[in-house]
Amino acid sequence: MTQRPYNFNAGPAMLPESVLAEAKEGLVDYRGSGRGVLEMGHREDDFLEIAHAAEADLRDLINIPDNYKVLFLHGGARGQFAAVPMNLATRNDTADYVVNGSWGKAAAAEGKKFLADAHIAAESTPYTYVPDESEWRHSARPAYVHITDNETIDGVAFDHIPETEAPLVADKSSDILSEPIEVSKYAVIYFGTQKNSGPAGMAGVIVREDMLGATRPDTPAILDWTAEAEQGSMVNTPPTATWYIAGLVFKWLKNQGGVEAMAEINKHEAEKLYRAIDESELYMNPVRRENRSHMNVPFTITVPGLDKIFLLEARTQGLINLKGHRSVGGMRASLYNAMPESGVDALVEFMKAFEEKPF
Ligand code: PMP
Repeated sequence: MTQRPYNFNAGPAMLPESVLAEAKEGLVDYRGSGRGVLEMGHREDDFLEIAHAAEADLRDLINIPDNYKVLFLHGGARGQFAAVPMNLATRNDTADYVVNGSWGKAAAAEGKKFLADAHIAAESTPYTYVPDESEWRHSARPAYVHITDNETIDGVAFDHIPETEAPLVADKSSDILSEPIEVSKYAVIYFGTQKNSGPAGMAGVIVREDMLGATRPDTPAILDWTAEAEQGSMVNTPPTATWYIAGLVFKWLKNQGGVEAMAEINKHEAEKLYRAIDESELYMNPVRRENRSHMNVPFTITVPGLDKIFLLEARTQGLINLKGHRSVGGMRASLYNAMPESGVDALVEFMKAFEEKPF
C-alpha cells in the first residue's frame, strides 16, 4: 500500500488500518466461505452472528445496562433528529434543546417540524462554550431535553452530564467511544457511525426501554424505535457492510484497551495540539478551556490570506482534510480514535515550521 496520509477529516474519518485490511478480505470472502459480507443475506446465520457480536462489543465497551436497547439504523444522525420527537413526543408537545453549536441548532430545527415547539432552553453566542445550567430556561413540561455532547464543527463539548428532570437525549455522534460514559444518566444516546465507529450510512441508538412504546403511529417504519427494537433493527434490510465494519472497529477498540485507554490517549493528543495553538502567535482557538473538544480541534490563522497556503503545504506533508467546515471556515483537526499520536506530532511540527516561514 502507498504511504497513508494522516487524515483529519471530521467524518467519514480515518479508520484503523488493520480494520480496513480485515474488511477488505471479509467483504469479498468471509472466513473462506467463498462469498463476502456484501453479498450476505441479513438473516443468514453468518450475518446475524456479526450483528450480535457488534452489539455485544458495543455494550461491553461503554457498559450499556440491560434495560437499554441498542439499535443500528439507516439515515445517520440526521435521521435521528426526526426520530427523537417521533418516538418521544406527540405533535402537541414541546421539547427543549440546549444549543452550543451548529448541530444542536440543526437538531432543533428538524425537531420543530414534528413538535408544537422545539424550545431553545439555552444557546451560546458565539458557539465557544456550553451555556451554564443555571442559565437554562426550560419550557413548562418538556417531553425531553436534547443536548449535543460534542459539537463537531465548533469543537465545543460538555465537560459533565447535566441533570435534567425531563428525559435527557444526547447526540454523541462525534464523541461516542472516545471515553467512558455513564449511560444510565441518559434516556437516549444516538450517533452517526462515520467518525469513531466505522463507515457512514448508519446511526446507533441506545434507548432506555421505558422510552419505547410511545412511537407515533405516523412514524416511518425505519425511524420507529419500538418496531426496530422488536425486530432486531431489521424492519428493513439494514446497512450490512457498515454494521460489519463497525463491529470490526469495536473489536479493535477492545484490543486497544477499550474506551478507558482511548480517553487517556485522546486527552493527551488534544492537549498537545491545543498547547501548540495557545503558544503560537499565528493560530487561535476561541473555545472556553473546559469546553474544548478532544475530538475536533478548530483553529484559525490570524494573518489573513494564509489558509489556502497552509492547507496546500499541509497536504504535501501528508496531512489532509484540515479545512474547517464550510459554514465556519478556518481549519479543523479531527482526532478520532484511529488517529495515531504520530499524526498529531506531525501536525504540530508542521504548524510550527509554517509559523516560522517569512510571509
Ligand atoms: N450530529 C453531529 C454532532 C454531527 O457531527 C453530524 C455530522 N457531522 C451530524 C449530527 C449529522 O450526521 P449525519 O451526516 O450522519 O446525518
